[in-house]
Amino acid sequence: MSTQSPDSFVIDGKLALPYQYFAGRTGSRFLTSIRDEKKIKGLKCEKCNKVFVPPRQTCERCFEDISENWVELENAGTVTGFTIIRYEEPHQPFKPPYILAQIKLDGADTSLTHIVKGVALSQMKTGIRVQAKFAKNSTSTIMDIDHFRPIKPKFELGYSYDELEIGMSASFTKTITESDVYQFAGISGDFNPMHLNEEFAKMTPFGTRIAHGALPQSLIAPVLGMKLPGLGTVIPEITVRFRKPTYFGDTVTATAEVVEFIEARRWVKLELTWTNQRDELVAEGHAIAIPPTPMG
Ligand SMILES: [Zn+2]
Repeated sequence: MSTQSPDSFVIDGKLALPYQYFAGRTGSRFLTSIRDEKKIKGLKCEKCNKVFVPPRQTCERCFEDISENWVELENAGTVTGFTIIRYEEPHQPFKPPYILAQIKLDGADTSLTHIVKGVALSQMKTGIRVQAKFAKNSTSTIMDIDHFRPIKPKFELGYSYDELEIGMSASFTKTITESDVYQFAGISGDFNPMHLNEEFAKMTPFGTRIAHGALPQSLIAPVLGMKLPGLGTVIPEITVRFRKPTYFGDTVTATAEVVEFIEARRWVKLELTWTNQRDELVAEGHAIAIPPTPMG
């Protein structure tokens, strides 16, 4: 009889390990309000005046039990950090590449990690404002917030102080008509016959009617207010020297160019020029501008 021991052999096998975990009392309430109310809630430590999202039962600073101090947060916040997921794994909610971001909701002191969509990978940056989009079909998980997407500002503000550079310029051009002059007379109350009565105007040094000086001057307003710096700008000072008259039918271009930073106040000085279609300098001056402050 052989006393030989059997050969060692190896068999590949698989263990399936289904498991469940409980989100906990705090985690469950957090997920339930997202699912049922479409509201993101956090827990607040009154002692430390800190709001935790995702919520935690105990304050991480003073160890106080805060599990009942629920506060409702805005469903909007600011991206404080992000990474772009480029590798593919079966457990991922989306096909890469996608953006995984740290989002500090308005009213919260900690950040929530979630997915940001609706922004090109190359355009993604910290500081952008995002809003939660809730999933149509609930899975009773954090994916009941389907993703966050950028909040489009209602108005695109103009250049902030930090975005402006010396030499940046912008213009607005308009042909001044007789109708403009009549309307301007009505607006200003200046019915001086040198603007309105051709026979009277013949006796003036100009020999014909001319526009009110403030009319071409006003063409700088759309430049400063809507282009450079743009929406949100306040102009505390404009000075103008008039060089040439503006005749009816003249086409005037008003231009502003950034020439100086007033660092102490974060204001800028712009050089202003008004020229006509004959390349004559109609007027020149300068403006002090308080550029818009970025919102949010
Ligand atoms: Zn605390």
